[in-house]
Amino acid sequence: MKWLKPKGTTPETPKGERPLWFTRSLLTSALRAGGCVVCAALAVSERRFLHSFLYEGMMSAMVRQKFLDGGGFCLRHFWMAKEIEDECWPTGGIGMAILCEDLVRQVQVQMSQREASDSRKRSREPRSPRLGRDCMFCVDLRQKEESLIEALEEISEEPSFARRFTADRFCARHGELAGERWHRVTRRNWASELVQCHLAELAGDLREFIRKHDYQHRHEQPGREHDVVLRAIAFLIGPKPTIQREKS
Ligand SMILES: [Zn+2]
Ligand SMILES: [Zn+2]
Repeated sequence: MKWLKPKGTTPETPKGERPLWFTRSLLTSALRAGGCVVCAALAVSERRFLHSFLYEGMMSAMVRQKFLDGGGFCLRHFWMAKEIEDECWPTGGIGMAILCEDLVRQVQVQMSQREASDSRKRSREPRSPRLGRDCMFCVDLRQKEESLIEALEEISEEPSFARRFTADRFCARHGELAGERWHRVTRRNWASELVQCHLAELAGDLREFIRKHDYQHRHEQPGREHDVVLRAIAFLIGPKPTIQREKS
């Protein structure tokens, strides 16, 4: 929606292959965000890609076709795109309306084709909804995750980066991916030690949280364990999926 100037954001044009400096800058900024660095970097990247698509990508026939071929947005990215549109085009955007129109038409065509096909064959085949099945934003996210994990092996060796990379900077998934993908055993051991250390910390805090909920200990002041449930969920499955606004 290039014709409507968005509020306070800089669009990013998708460029395919990113140079290492771009990944480095993304990971370095993610260190400031707290939590898993890969999750934080992906959240920024995900938002930029959605914003860029709404801002100008969707106006390209080729990009729009790719979007439709993937069945449009998945559940997560549909609602994220709507939130980004509401946030960036407060006077009203029509990008989502245009995309919904395309998708509604696509569903109409698919339904007509199904109606026209042999009814006996239809009854034997499970109906798989096409919508969001190959969401291009999910595909992009998986590719970026791979390149971030790969770059992290190199960047995490730099003393200035490693110093700030505390035990809680890996979630379970990305700690595991580092263990699978990284080439050097010293780096894999480093990642494993961090995850083990984080696990021990979470286990201790959860024990303390549960202990303090016993009626005999409820008078005790809450300590560092007060937010452990949120930290444990973020470690186990990743951060809460909300729009990550970029910090300037
Ligand atoms: Zn993560
Ligand atoms: Zn998606």
